[in-house]
Amino acid sequence: MEYSGENLDVIVIGAGVMGSSTAYQTAKRGQNTLLLEQFDFLHHRGSSHGESRTLRSTYPEDYYSHMVIESSRLWEEAQSEIGYKVYFKTPQFDMGPAHDTSLQAVISSCRKNKIPHQVLDPSQVLEEYSGRIQLPEDWIGVITELGGVVKPTKAVSMYQTLALKHGAVLRDNIEVVDIRKDDVRGGVLVYTKDGESFWGKKCVVTVGAWMKKLVKRVTGLFLPIQPLETTVCYWRIKQGQEGKFTMASGFPTFASYGKPYIYGTPSLEFPGLIKIPVHGGSPCDPDKRTWAPAATSLDPLKVWIKETFNGLVDSSAPVQTQSCLYSMTPDEDFVIDFLGGEFGKEVVVAGGFSGHGFKMAPVVGRILADLVVGGEAKGVELKHFRVGRFEGNANGNVKGFEDQVSRTELPTC
Ligand SMILES: Cc1cc2nc3c(=O)[nH]c(=O)nc-3n(C[C@H](O)[C@H](O)[C@H](O)COP(=O)(O)OP(=O)(O)OC[C@H]3O[C@@H](n4cnc5c(N)ncnc54)[C@H](O)[C@@H]3O)c2cc1C
Repeated sequence: MEYSGENLDVIVIGAGVMGSSTAYQTAKRGQNTLLLEQFDFLHHRGSSHGESRTLRSTYPEDYYSHMVIESSRLWEEAQSEIGYKVYFKTPQFDMGPAHDTSLQAVISSCRKNKIPHQVLDPSQVLEEYSGRIQLPEDWIGVITELGGVVKPTKAVSMYQTLALKHGAVLRDNIEVVDIRKDDVRGGVLVYTKDGESFWGKKCVVTVGAWMKKLVKRVTGLFLPIQPLETTVCYWRIKQGQEGKFTMASGFPTFASYGKPYIYGTPSLEFPGLIKIPVHGGSPCDPDKRTWAPAATSLDPLKVWIKETFNGLVDSSAPVQTQSCLYSMTPDEDFVIDFLGGEFGKEVVVAGGFSGHGFKMAPVVGRILADLVVGGEAKGVELKHFRVGRFEGNANGNVKGFEDQVSRTELPTC
Protein backbone atom coordinates (compact mmCIF):
# COMPACT_ATOMS: atom_id res chain seq x y z
CA MET A 1 0.00 0.00 0.00
CA GLU A 2 1.42 3.40 -0.96
CA TYR A 3 1.38 5.95 1.79
CA SER A 4 1.54 9.72 1.37
CA GLY A 5 2.92 10.43 4.83
CA GLU A 6 0.41 13.19 5.59
CA ASN A 7 -1.41 13.52 8.91
CA LEU A 8 0.54 10.97 10.86
CA ASP A 9 0.21 11.03 14.62
CA VAL A 10 2.98 8.55 15.36
CA ILE A 11 5.88 7.18 13.32
CA VAL A 12 7.41 4.06 14.89
CA ILE A 13 10.91 3.20 13.66
CA GLY A 14 11.95 -0.46 13.94
CA ALA A 15 9.52 -3.39 13.64
CA GLY A 16 10.91 -5.85 16.15
CA VAL A 17 8.65 -6.88 19.00
CA MET A 18 8.86 -3.49 20.74
CA GLY A 19 8.01 -1.40 17.68
CA SER A 20 5.27 -3.80 16.58
CA SER A 21 3.57 -3.86 19.99
CA THR A 22 3.83 -0.05 20.16
CA ALA A 23 2.26 0.37 16.70
CA TYR A 24 -0.58 -1.89 17.85
CA GLN A 25 -1.11 0.18 21.00
CA THR A 26 -1.05 3.57 19.25
CA ALA A 27 -3.26 2.41 16.36
CA LYS A 28 -5.72 0.91 18.83
CA ARG A 29 -5.99 4.32 20.48
CA GLY A 30 -7.01 5.87 17.18
CA GLN A 31 -3.61 7.38 16.37
CA ASN A 32 -2.63 7.44 12.69
CA THR A 33 0.42 5.21 12.92
CA LEU A 34 3.21 4.34 10.48
CA LEU A 35 5.62 1.48 11.33
CA LEU A 36 8.92 1.48 9.41
CA GLU A 37 11.41 -1.41 9.20
CA GLN A 38 14.83 -1.39 7.53
CA PHE A 39 14.75 -5.08 6.49
CA ASP A 40 11.95 -7.48 5.53
CA PHE A 41 9.28 -7.83 8.20
CA LEU A 42 9.99 -10.86 10.43
CA HIS A 43 13.66 -10.98 9.39
CA HIS A 44 16.31 -12.82 11.44
CA ARG A 45 18.90 -10.05 11.75
CA GLY A 46 17.73 -8.46 15.00
CA SER A 47 16.58 -9.75 18.40
CA SER A 48 12.93 -10.73 17.99
CA HIS A 49 13.03 -13.78 15.72
CA GLY A 50 12.93 -17.47 16.56
CA GLU A 51 10.72 -19.93 18.32
CA SER A 52 10.90 -19.34 22.07
CA ARG A 53 11.48 -16.71 24.75
CA THR A 54 10.93 -17.33 28.43
CA LEU A 55 8.46 -15.38 30.49
CA ARG A 56 9.17 -15.35 34.21
CA SER A 57 8.29 -13.04 37.06
CA THR A 58 11.38 -13.94 39.09
CA TYR A 59 13.33 -10.70 39.07
CA PRO A 60 15.35 -9.40 42.02
CA GLU A 61 13.94 -5.93 41.19
CA ASP A 62 10.28 -5.34 42.06
CA TYR A 63 9.70 -2.97 39.16
CA TYR A 64 10.31 -5.78 36.64
CA SER A 65 8.05 -8.24 38.49
CA HIS A 66 5.20 -5.73 38.26
CA MET A 67 5.83 -5.25 34.55
CA VAL A 68 5.82 -9.01 33.93
CA ILE A 69 2.49 -9.39 35.71
CA GLU A 70 0.95 -6.70 33.47
CA SER A 71 2.62 -8.16 30.38
CA SER A 72 1.27 -11.61 31.07
CA ARG A 73 -2.24 -10.16 31.13
CA LEU A 74 -1.62 -8.13 27.96
CA TRP A 75 -0.21 -11.17 26.10
CA GLU A 76 -3.44 -12.97 26.86
CA GLU A 77 -5.57 -9.99 25.78
CA ALA A 78 -3.75 -9.69 22.46
CA GLN A 79 -3.96 -13.38 21.69
CA SER A 80 -7.68 -13.44 22.40
CA GLU A 81 -8.06 -10.48 20.00
CA ILE A 82 -6.11 -12.26 17.23
CA GLY A 83 -7.60 -15.70 17.91
CA TYR A 84 -4.43 -17.80 18.26
CA LYS A 85 -1.83 -18.41 20.95
CA VAL A 86 1.69 -17.01 21.19
CA TYR A 87 2.09 -17.41 24.98
CA PHE A 88 2.18 -20.89 26.49
CA LYS A 89 2.10 -21.02 30.27
CA THR A 90 4.49 -23.19 32.26
CA PRO A 91 5.89 -22.89 35.77
CA GLN A 92 9.34 -21.25 36.03
CA PHE A 93 12.11 -23.07 37.91
CA ASP A 94 15.05 -20.99 39.22
CA MET A 95 17.99 -22.80 40.77
CA GLY A 96 21.32 -21.82 42.26
CA PRO A 97 23.58 -21.85 45.31
CA ALA A 98 21.45 -21.27 48.43
CA HIS A 99 23.47 -18.17 49.35
CA ASP A 100 23.36 -16.60 45.86
CA THR A 101 22.36 -12.97 46.43
CA SER A 102 20.32 -12.65 43.21
CA LEU A 103 18.37 -15.83 43.93
CA GLN A 104 17.74 -14.70 47.52
CA ALA A 105 16.56 -11.31 46.19
CA VAL A 106 14.18 -13.15 43.84
CA ILE A 107 12.71 -15.06 46.80
CA SER A 108 12.30 -11.81 48.80
CA SER A 109 10.66 -10.14 45.82
CA CYS A 110 8.23 -13.08 45.42
CA ARG A 111 7.32 -12.83 49.11
CA LYS A 112 6.91 -9.06 48.99
CA ASN A 113 4.80 -9.13 45.83
CA LYS A 114 2.77 -12.15 46.90
CA ILE A 115 3.92 -14.14 43.87
CA PRO A 116 3.08 -17.77 44.68
CA HIS A 117 6.34 -19.72 44.95
CA GLN A 118 7.93 -22.75 46.60
CA VAL A 119 11.53 -23.01 47.77
CA LEU A 120 12.81 -26.60 47.54
CA ASP A 121 15.96 -28.38 48.68
CA PRO A 122 17.73 -30.79 46.29
CA SER A 123 15.85 -33.90 47.47
CA GLN A 124 12.50 -32.13 47.06
CA VAL A 125 13.56 -30.99 43.57
CA LEU A 126 14.46 -34.55 42.61
CA GLU A 127 11.06 -35.71 43.76
CA GLU A 128 9.13 -32.80 42.20
CA TYR A 129 10.67 -33.45 38.79
CA SER A 130 10.75 -37.26 39.11
CA GLY A 131 14.51 -37.46 38.75
CA ARG A 132 14.74 -35.14 35.73
CA ILE A 133 16.44 -32.30 37.63
CA GLN A 134 19.22 -32.92 40.14
CA LEU A 135 20.90 -30.14 42.14
CA PRO A 136 24.16 -30.02 44.12
CA GLU A 137 23.71 -30.37 47.89
CA ASP A 138 24.20 -26.67 48.64
CA TRP A 139 21.73 -25.47 45.98
CA ILE A 140 18.03 -24.65 46.20
CA GLY A 141 15.24 -24.48 43.63
CA VAL A 142 12.40 -21.96 43.41
CA ILE A 143 9.20 -22.78 41.55
CA THR A 144 6.87 -19.96 40.52
CA GLU A 145 3.61 -20.43 38.67
CA LEU A 146 3.86 -17.27 36.57
CA GLY A 147 6.09 -18.44 33.74
CA GLY A 148 5.91 -19.61 30.19
CA VAL A 149 7.19 -19.54 26.67
CA VAL A 150 6.37 -16.84 24.13
CA LYS A 151 6.88 -17.64 20.45
CA PRO A 152 8.79 -14.60 19.16
CA THR A 153 8.32 -14.55 15.38
CA LYS A 154 4.67 -15.50 15.77
CA ALA A 155 4.21 -12.81 18.46
CA VAL A 156 5.77 -10.08 16.28
CA SER A 157 3.55 -11.17 13.40
CA MET A 158 0.55 -11.04 15.75
CA TYR A 159 1.28 -7.46 16.79
CA GLN A 160 1.86 -6.37 13.19
CA THR A 161 -1.45 -7.95 12.12
CA LEU A 162 -3.29 -6.32 15.02
CA ALA A 163 -1.68 -2.96 14.23
CA LEU A 164 -2.87 -3.28 10.61
CA LYS A 165 -6.32 -4.26 11.81
CA HIS A 166 -6.49 -1.05 13.84
CA GLY A 167 -5.50 1.03 10.82
CA ALA A 168 -1.70 1.34 11.08
CA VAL A 169 0.37 1.46 7.89
CA LEU A 170 3.37 -0.89 7.85
CA ARG A 171 6.31 -0.51 5.46
CA ASP A 172 9.46 -2.59 5.33
CA ASN A 173 12.81 -2.28 3.55
CA ILE A 174 12.96 1.38 4.57
CA GLU A 175 16.01 2.42 6.54
CA VAL A 176 15.65 5.59 8.57
CA VAL A 177 18.80 7.68 8.48
CA ASP A 178 17.75 10.86 10.24
CA ILE A 179 15.08 12.47 12.39
CA ARG A 180 14.70 16.27 12.42
CA LYS A 181 12.45 18.61 14.30
CA ASP A 182 10.08 20.42 11.93
CA ASP A 183 10.43 24.05 13.04
CA VAL A 184 7.71 25.20 10.63
CA ARG A 185 4.88 22.75 11.29
CA GLY A 186 5.99 21.35 14.61
CA GLY A 187 6.36 17.58 14.94
CA VAL A 188 9.23 15.65 13.36
CA LEU A 189 10.52 14.73 9.92
CA VAL A 190 11.86 11.22 9.44
CA TYR A 191 14.29 10.78 6.53
CA THR A 192 15.02 7.47 4.83
CA LYS A 193 18.08 6.16 3.01
CA ASP A 194 16.11 6.18 -0.27
CA GLY A 195 15.42 9.90 -0.01
CA GLU A 196 11.83 9.70 1.23
CA SER A 197 10.66 11.71 4.20
CA PHE A 198 7.68 11.34 6.50
CA TRP A 199 6.16 13.92 8.79
CA GLY A 200 4.59 12.91 12.08
CA LYS A 201 3.46 14.64 15.26
CA LYS A 202 5.47 12.17 17.33
CA CYS A 203 8.06 9.48 16.77
CA VAL A 204 9.02 6.31 18.67
CA VAL A 205 12.47 4.82 18.08
CA THR A 206 12.67 1.07 18.78
CA VAL A 207 15.68 0.06 16.68
CA GLY A 208 17.18 -2.59 18.97
CA ALA A 209 20.89 -3.14 18.46
CA TRP A 210 21.05 -0.16 16.05
CA MET A 211 19.99 2.32 18.76
CA LYS A 212 23.47 3.61 19.59
CA LYS A 213 24.21 4.27 15.88
CA LEU A 214 20.93 6.01 15.07
CA VAL A 215 20.82 8.18 18.20
CA LYS A 216 24.43 9.23 17.66
CA ARG A 217 23.63 10.20 14.06
CA VAL A 218 20.50 12.13 15.00
CA THR A 219 21.66 13.94 18.15
CA GLY A 220 25.38 13.34 18.58
CA LEU A 221 24.48 11.78 21.96
CA PHE A 222 26.24 8.57 22.99
CA LEU A 223 23.78 6.06 24.37
CA PRO A 224 25.75 3.18 25.88
CA ILE A 225 23.78 0.34 24.31
CA GLN A 226 26.24 -2.34 23.22
CA PRO A 227 25.13 -5.01 20.73
CA LEU A 228 26.27 -8.55 21.59
CA GLU A 229 26.15 -11.51 19.23
CA THR A 230 24.82 -14.46 21.19
CA THR A 231 24.37 -18.14 20.34
CA VAL A 232 21.31 -20.22 21.13
CA CYS A 233 22.09 -23.93 21.56
CA TYR A 234 19.73 -26.89 21.16
CA TRP A 235 20.68 -30.28 22.66
CA ARG A 236 19.37 -33.76 21.90
CA ILE A 237 17.33 -35.49 24.60
CA LYS A 238 18.38 -39.14 24.85
CA GLN A 239 16.23 -41.65 22.99
CA GLY A 240 13.17 -42.72 24.92
CA GLN A 241 13.39 -39.72 27.30
CA GLU A 242 11.97 -37.06 24.95
CA GLY A 243 8.50 -36.94 26.53
CA LYS A 244 9.97 -36.10 29.94
CA PHE A 245 11.11 -32.64 28.84
CA THR A 246 7.91 -31.32 27.26
CA MET A 247 5.44 -28.81 28.70
CA ALA A 248 2.79 -31.53 28.67
CA SER A 249 4.90 -33.50 31.15
CA GLY A 250 5.16 -30.46 33.44
CA PHE A 251 8.73 -29.55 32.51
CA PRO A 252 9.31 -25.86 33.35
CA THR A 253 11.17 -22.94 31.82
CA PHE A 254 14.33 -22.63 33.89
CA ALA A 255 17.32 -20.52 34.89
CA SER A 256 20.47 -21.46 36.76
CA TYR A 257 22.15 -18.77 38.86
CA GLY A 258 25.47 -20.57 39.09
CA LYS A 259 28.43 -19.71 36.89
CA PRO A 260 27.80 -19.48 33.99
CA TYR A 261 24.21 -18.18 34.05
CA ILE A 262 22.19 -20.72 32.04
CA TYR A 263 18.56 -20.62 30.94
CA GLY A 264 16.21 -22.72 28.86
CA THR A 265 12.76 -23.77 27.79
CA PRO A 266 10.98 -27.12 27.69
CA SER A 267 11.33 -29.16 24.50
CA LEU A 268 8.98 -27.41 22.08
CA GLU A 269 10.07 -26.09 18.72
CA PHE A 270 12.18 -29.05 17.58
CA PRO A 271 10.83 -32.41 18.84
CA GLY A 272 13.49 -34.30 20.76
CA LEU A 273 15.65 -31.19 21.27
CA ILE A 274 15.82 -28.85 24.26
CA LYS A 275 17.04 -25.25 24.21
CA ILE A 276 19.80 -24.61 26.75
CA PRO A 277 22.03 -21.56 26.08
CA VAL A 278 24.44 -19.57 28.22
CA HIS A 279 23.30 -15.97 28.73
CA GLY A 280 25.93 -13.73 27.15
CA GLY A 281 27.86 -13.12 23.96
CA SER A 282 30.50 -11.10 22.15
CA PRO A 283 30.37 -7.36 21.41
CA CYS A 284 29.65 -6.72 17.73
CA ASP A 285 28.60 -4.20 15.11
CA PRO A 286 25.06 -5.26 14.09
CA ASP A 287 25.95 -4.57 10.44
CA LYS A 288 29.14 -6.69 10.56
CA ARG A 289 28.15 -9.91 12.27
CA THR A 290 30.18 -13.10 12.17
CA TRP A 291 27.05 -15.33 12.30
CA ALA A 292 29.40 -17.95 13.74
CA PRO A 293 28.68 -19.91 16.94
CA ALA A 294 30.32 -18.41 20.05
CA ALA A 295 34.06 -18.92 20.17
CA THR A 296 33.98 -19.45 23.94
CA SER A 297 34.21 -22.92 25.40
CA LEU A 298 30.95 -24.78 26.00
CA ASP A 299 32.62 -27.07 28.55
CA PRO A 300 30.97 -25.53 31.67
CA LEU A 301 27.57 -25.74 29.96
CA LYS A 302 28.16 -29.38 28.97
CA VAL A 303 29.07 -30.31 32.56
CA TRP A 304 26.01 -28.46 33.88
CA ILE A 305 23.66 -30.25 31.44
CA LYS A 306 25.11 -33.66 32.23
CA GLU A 307 24.85 -33.19 35.99
CA THR A 308 21.57 -31.26 36.20
CA PHE A 309 19.54 -33.42 33.83
CA ASN A 310 20.83 -36.67 35.28
CA GLY A 311 22.43 -37.83 32.02
CA LEU A 312 19.06 -37.73 30.20
CA VAL A 313 20.25 -35.08 27.70
CA ASP A 314 23.21 -35.69 25.37
CA SER A 315 25.72 -33.09 26.54
CA SER A 316 28.50 -33.97 24.08
CA ALA A 317 27.65 -31.10 21.67
CA PRO A 318 24.68 -28.96 20.64
CA VAL A 319 22.93 -30.34 17.56
CA GLN A 320 21.74 -26.93 16.41
CA THR A 321 22.79 -23.33 17.02
CA GLN A 322 21.22 -19.97 16.11
CA SER A 323 22.69 -16.46 16.18
CA CYS A 324 20.85 -13.55 17.77
CA LEU A 325 21.53 -10.02 19.07
CA TYR A 326 21.38 -8.64 22.60
CA SER A 327 21.45 -4.86 23.26
CA MET A 328 23.20 -4.39 26.59
CA THR A 329 23.16 -1.33 28.83
CA PRO A 330 25.85 -0.99 31.52
CA ASP A 331 23.34 -1.71 34.31
CA GLU A 332 21.18 -4.07 32.21
CA ASP A 333 18.13 -1.90 32.85
CA PHE A 334 16.10 -0.83 29.83
CA VAL A 335 16.15 2.60 28.23
CA ILE A 336 12.60 4.01 27.94
CA ASP A 337 12.50 7.80 27.81
CA PHE A 338 11.95 10.94 25.81
CA LEU A 339 14.97 11.67 23.66
CA GLY A 340 14.89 15.22 25.04
CA GLY A 341 17.09 18.06 23.79
CA GLU A 342 15.51 19.90 20.86
CA PHE A 343 12.98 17.07 20.48
CA GLY A 344 11.44 17.61 23.91
CA LYS A 345 8.62 15.09 24.27
CA GLU A 346 8.19 14.52 20.54
CA VAL A 347 10.59 11.59 20.21
CA VAL A 348 10.60 8.60 22.55
CA VAL A 349 13.38 6.00 22.57
CA ALA A 350 13.15 2.43 23.85
CA GLY A 351 16.07 0.04 23.71
CA GLY A 352 18.83 -1.62 25.69
CA PHE A 353 16.57 -4.53 26.58
CA SER A 354 19.70 -6.39 27.65
CA GLY A 355 18.61 -9.90 26.72
CA HIS A 356 15.47 -9.89 28.91
CA GLY A 357 12.97 -7.68 27.11
CA PHE A 358 10.80 -9.97 25.02
CA LYS A 359 8.41 -10.96 27.79
CA MET A 360 7.87 -7.24 28.50
CA ALA A 361 6.93 -6.22 24.94
CA PRO A 362 3.20 -5.80 25.68
CA VAL A 363 3.79 -3.50 28.66
CA VAL A 364 6.61 -1.63 26.88
CA GLY A 365 4.24 -0.98 23.95
CA ARG A 366 1.62 0.27 26.38
CA ILE A 367 4.13 2.56 28.12
CA LEU A 368 5.47 3.95 24.82
CA ALA A 369 1.94 4.65 23.60
CA ASP A 370 1.19 6.43 26.89
CA LEU A 371 4.32 8.54 26.48
CA VAL A 372 3.68 9.64 22.90
CA VAL A 373 -0.06 10.08 23.24
CA GLY A 374 -0.36 11.56 26.74
CA GLY A 375 3.18 12.65 27.66
CA GLU A 376 3.41 10.34 30.68
CA ALA A 377 3.13 6.65 31.48
CA LYS A 378 0.74 5.41 34.11
CA GLY A 379 1.41 2.79 36.75
CA VAL A 380 5.12 2.39 36.13
CA GLU A 381 8.20 4.00 37.66
CA LEU A 382 10.41 5.02 34.73
CA LYS A 383 13.32 6.43 36.77
CA HIS A 384 15.32 3.22 36.29
CA PHE A 385 15.01 3.57 32.51
CA ARG A 386 16.00 7.23 32.02
CA VAL A 387 18.55 8.27 29.40
CA GLY A 388 19.93 10.74 31.97
CA ARG A 389 21.42 7.97 34.11
CA PHE A 390 24.28 7.76 31.60
CA GLU A 391 25.03 11.48 31.76
CA GLY A 392 28.69 12.39 31.96
CA ASN A 393 29.42 9.64 29.48
CA ALA A 394 28.86 11.67 26.33
CA ASN A 395 32.08 10.38 24.80
CA GLY A 396 31.19 6.77 25.26
CA ASN A 397 33.27 6.54 28.39
CA VAL A 398 31.12 4.40 30.66
CA LYS A 399 33.36 3.12 33.42
CA GLY A 400 33.75 -0.63 33.34
CA PHE A 401 31.21 -1.05 30.55
CA GLU A 402 33.55 -2.47 27.93
CA ASP A 403 34.89 -4.96 30.47
CA GLN A 404 31.39 -5.92 31.43
CA VAL A 405 30.10 -6.58 27.93
CA SER A 406 33.17 -8.51 26.90
CA ARG A 407 32.43 -11.11 29.55
CA THR A 408 30.80 -14.21 28.16
CA GLU A 409 28.13 -14.51 30.82
CA LEU A 410 25.70 -12.01 32.22
CA PRO A 411 23.30 -12.23 35.09
CA THR A 412 19.72 -12.08 33.71
CA CYS A 413 17.51 -13.25 30.86
C1 LIG B 1 19.01 -15.47 21.92
C2 LIG B 1 18.12 -14.54 22.67
C3 LIG B 1 17.36 -15.04 23.71
C4 LIG B 1 16.53 -14.19 24.41
N1 LIG B 1 15.78 -14.72 25.41
C5 LIG B 1 14.90 -13.95 26.03
C6 LIG B 1 14.02 -14.54 26.97
O1 LIG B 1 14.05 -15.73 27.21
N2 LIG B 1 13.11 -13.73 27.57
C7 LIG B 1 13.03 -12.39 27.31
O2 LIG B 1 12.20 -11.71 27.90
N3 LIG B 1 13.87 -11.81 26.41
C8 LIG B 1 14.78 -12.55 25.78
N4 LIG B 1 15.61 -12.00 24.84
C9 LIG B 1 15.57 -10.55 24.59
C10 LIG B 1 14.51 -10.12 23.61
O3 LIG B 1 14.42 -11.01 22.52
C11 LIG B 1 14.82 -8.69 23.15
O4 LIG B 1 14.89 -7.88 24.32
C12 LIG B 1 13.76 -8.13 22.23
O5 LIG B 1 13.53 -8.99 21.14
C13 LIG B 1 14.23 -6.76 21.72
O6 LIG B 1 13.30 -6.31 20.75
P1 LIG B 1 13.52 -4.94 19.98
O7 LIG B 1 12.26 -4.69 19.24
O8 LIG B 1 14.04 -3.90 20.92
O9 LIG B 1 14.74 -5.21 18.97
P2 LIG B 1 14.72 -5.90 17.52
O10 LIG B 1 13.91 -7.11 17.51
O11 LIG B 1 16.13 -6.04 17.06
O12 LIG B 1 13.97 -4.84 16.63
C14 LIG B 1 14.58 -3.64 16.20
C15 LIG B 1 14.20 -3.45 14.76
O13 LIG B 1 14.58 -2.16 14.32
C16 LIG B 1 15.01 -2.27 12.97
N5 LIG B 1 15.84 -1.11 12.66
C17 LIG B 1 17.07 -0.86 13.15
N6 LIG B 1 17.55 0.30 12.65
C18 LIG B 1 16.59 0.79 11.82
C19 LIG B 1 16.52 1.94 11.00
N7 LIG B 1 17.51 2.83 10.96
N8 LIG B 1 15.42 2.11 10.23
C20 LIG B 1 14.39 1.20 10.28
N9 LIG B 1 14.42 0.09 11.05
C21 LIG B 1 15.51 -0.12 11.80
C22 LIG B 1 15.77 -3.58 12.96
O14 LIG B 1 15.97 -4.08 11.68
C23 LIG B 1 14.89 -4.45 13.84
O15 LIG B 1 13.92 -5.13 13.07
C24 LIG B 1 16.47 -12.82 24.10
C25 LIG B 1 17.23 -12.31 23.06
C26 LIG B 1 18.04 -13.16 22.34
C27 LIG B 1 18.85 -12.60 21.21
